Amino acid sequence: MTTAVHDEQSDMNQGVFDPMPEAPALTPRQYYRLPWSLTDNGISWLEVTDACNLACEGCYRPHHDNHKSLEEIAGELEVFKRSRKSDCMSLAGGDPLVHPQIVEIVRMVREGGWKPIINTNGLALGHKLLARLKEAGASGFTFHIDTTQTRKDSAAETEADHNALRTRFAKMVAAAGGMSCSFNQTVSVNTLDQVKDTMAWALQYPDIVHTVVFILYRSPSLTGDFDFYANGQQITEHEHYDDSAWGGDSLVQARHVVAKLREVDPDFEPSAYLGGTVDPEATKWLIAARMASKDKGFGYVSPRYMEYLQIGHHLFKGTWLSYSTPKLLQRGRSTTAIFSLLDKGMRKIGKRYLGAMGNHELSIKDKMHMQTFTIIQPVDLLPDGRANMCDGCPDMTVHDGKLYWSCRLEEIKSYGCFMHAVPKGCKQPAKPALSD
Ligand code: SF4
Repeated sequence: MTTAVHDEQSDMNQGVFDPMPEAPALTPRQYYRLPWSLTDNGISWLEVTDACNLACEGCYRPHHDNHKSLEEIAGELEVFKRSRKSDCMSLAGGDPLVHPQIVEIVRMVREGGWKPIINTNGLALGHKLLARLKEAGASGFTFHIDTTQTRKDSAAETEADHNALRTRFAKMVAAAGGMSCSFNQTVSVNTLDQVKDTMAWALQYPDIVHTVVFILYRSPSLTGDFDFYANGQQITEHEHYDDSAWGGDSLVQARHVVAKLREVDPDFEPSAYLGGTVDPEATKWLIAARMASKDKGFGYVSPRYMEYLQIGHHLFKGTWLSYSTPKLLQRGRSTTAIFSLLDKGMRKIGKRYLGAMGNHELSIKDKMHMQTFTIIQPVDLLPDGRANMCDGCPDMTVHDGKLYWSCRLEEIKSYGCFMHAVPKGCKQPAKPALSD
């Protein structure tokens, strides 16, 4: 994942160029605010190694080939257990598949009561390893594939060129059975238009591509005019967040991606979000869920449906739902039928489905799948220097026995504290801003 620094929808006052001024602003209050929090969340984030077999542009974690021992990992799981409930445990790195004991780690996570989701570039994944990971309890994979990478398994100039590789992984996971399959793609201003190609590709595979996540690129050169401080000393932010030509010269925001996705599917409509810690207009995680058979889409679920889903899961399983299993995702017909009784938005989907049946566009054997699209807008800096983080951060990780935002862990490792931004021309405050 790439990281952070700049502000949100109100940010164009610092001379930062808006690549798509016509993209309408989003109104988070019309969506369901996911009830995820520091102590009770859909996801937690376990980094098992900092080693990686790729070098993605904008990666925020330096690679030193340090694999954590099983004892260290058991200790971190203990911290999660003590301080935070979560449905899924994202195994991350580095690339977790280069850890020689990844199968044992997956087993430990599953035995600890979490659904293990493996975040990987997929380079080290073969059929044998896939089978062993499944047997150990892997619940799903999130493949990071995009043009920030120079891959030996996909010579791609554009995001569309990677679609054959994405299809290969989706089919591989589907053939193994029972595990979810998601794809992450970093988006910069240079690749913004290409989200349409990834979306058009994903729409063809609602049965095996369960989630697509667009992560918006952040880099220091796009931050606006700030000086950065840690421990009372001025620092160069570039020490930790490498700038990249790939990232272009302006910030992409969630509303830009929504506008592009609507060019492919005019029905595209988010239903849930995570806000910002300091900006009420922010949609740091924005989630849309589509109901579709293999050949036809019926629309996007309503905010009310998302609310029922989260609350139902919490009532019956004790955690907020994240990364549903394929078994649940393919029950779109029954969930739409039930929720049509309660909600207008879901009735619309039900009517479209029945209409398609009536027109013989579908057979009774065709399943209805739920497919999710998520847009993540990492750390932004407000013009006054406050860092707008994801409120209810799902990617909290453990370091030295404490929970930290994984996207800013390098600051803690280097300074023992978070750096804070001061608009140029302002005096450095005596103490760090509250948000830091
Ligand atoms: S605040 Fe959390 S969820 Fe948001 S980008 Fe950082 S680590 Fe990821």
